[in-house]
Amino acid sequence: MNIPIAKPFLGPEEEEAAVRAIRSGWVSQGPLVKEFEERFAEYVGAKYAIATTSCTTALHSALVVSGIGPGDEVVVPSLSFIATANAVVHAGAVPVFADIDPETCNVTAETIQKAITRKTRAVMPVHQMGLPVDLDPIADLCRERGLKLIEDAACAIGSEYKGKRIGGHGNIACFSFHPRKIITTGEGGMITTDDSEQAARLRRFRHHGMSVSDIERHTADRIIIETYPEIGYNYRMTDIQAAIGIIQLGKMPVILLRRRELARAYDKGLADHPCLRVPRVPEYAFHNYQSYWLEILCSSSISRDELMQALLDRGIATRRGIMAIHLEKCYEAIRVSLPDTERLTRSAVLLPIFPDMKLEQVEYVLQCIKGSLLAV
Ligand SMILES: *Cc1c(COP(=O)(O)O)cnc(C)c1O
Repeated sequence: MNIPIAKPFLGPEEEEAAVRAIRSGWVSQGPLVKEFEERFAEYVGAKYAIATTSCTTALHSALVVSGIGPGDEVVVPSLSFIATANAVVHAGAVPVFADIDPETCNVTAETIQKAITRKTRAVMPVHQMGLPVDLDPIADLCRERGLKLIEDAACAIGSEYKGKRIGGHGNIACFSFHPRKIITTGEGGMITTDDSEQAARLRRFRHHGMSVSDIERHTADRIIIETYPEIGYNYRMTDIQAAIGIIQLGKMPVILLRRRELARAYDKGLADHPCLRVPRVPEYAFHNYQSYWLEILCSSSISRDELMQALLDRGIATRRGIMAIHLEKCYEAIRVSLPDTERLTRSAVLLPIFPDMKLEQVEYVLQCIKGSLLAV
């Protein structure tokens, strides 16, 4: 058996849509990006959606239009993909790392509070591995302290907080369409917001700061001379990508169903094991299971890395738990002690989960895990 850690859920429908986009003669950002944005906004329950080249560029844009820049601090988790902190640096600001609740792998209002200083201007919580943070207390804290709230929702498409989808809670939120995430366009990102002025500025910012979009100019019956009110970037998604994204978005119900079924099978097989701890999903959350992790407890006879190797020897790909950004060389100047983050990054492992995965494959992974834990 050979089981990858993840696999995009793409089929002939995406191929045909991409071919149609190519044959249409319009391949850069155009009518299909607009359609994808409208459908995405409707899906998550936001007023506006703005497509970008990635979640990293989405986060950078979101920080800039929120007024974050040099001299400002932004509170982020360290237990996250490094792009979370990099986006803050790209905006000219300084990331300040908050610890997490080990039950959920997410920052909380309490852990964020400890990282707030006089220079804090924004908080960027991450819905890690698709599990929503406890958003209301964090939003209350931000309101009390006058801080901007930007959700890093890279992994959280389709997840819900208190019955409402992530992206639909009135904050600016950023999503990823990298193949490791829930749906993919190869590379790509999306920003959602309910603020019309913010949405308009985001559209300019990703388009070289230009006052008019290509599609507006193309469909106008009078000439338009564009202006450049501010310096922007080229963060545009292509219509070929959007064509794929539209089809992918339509597959969300089946993707969620499959992922949750696989996660339940993992839960059932692992929950009572004395050497393991599996994720806990709080009452408030509907989890899309972008990733499935478990913690190898110190009572285990083998280490996390030994288990990963034993599984690889049996054809099962795993990944270490989420990285701790503050332990990477490029962030070594920031000295901070985050005990729960440091423990979990060493003791957690991510297991294979993807919509095409068979329940028999989950059974095989479970067998191999239990066998490895007994073997020593
Ligand atoms: C994947 C990921 C990103 C970066 O997404 P890209 O689309 O690859 O730029 C940012 N934040 C988190 C939490 C992620 O998991």
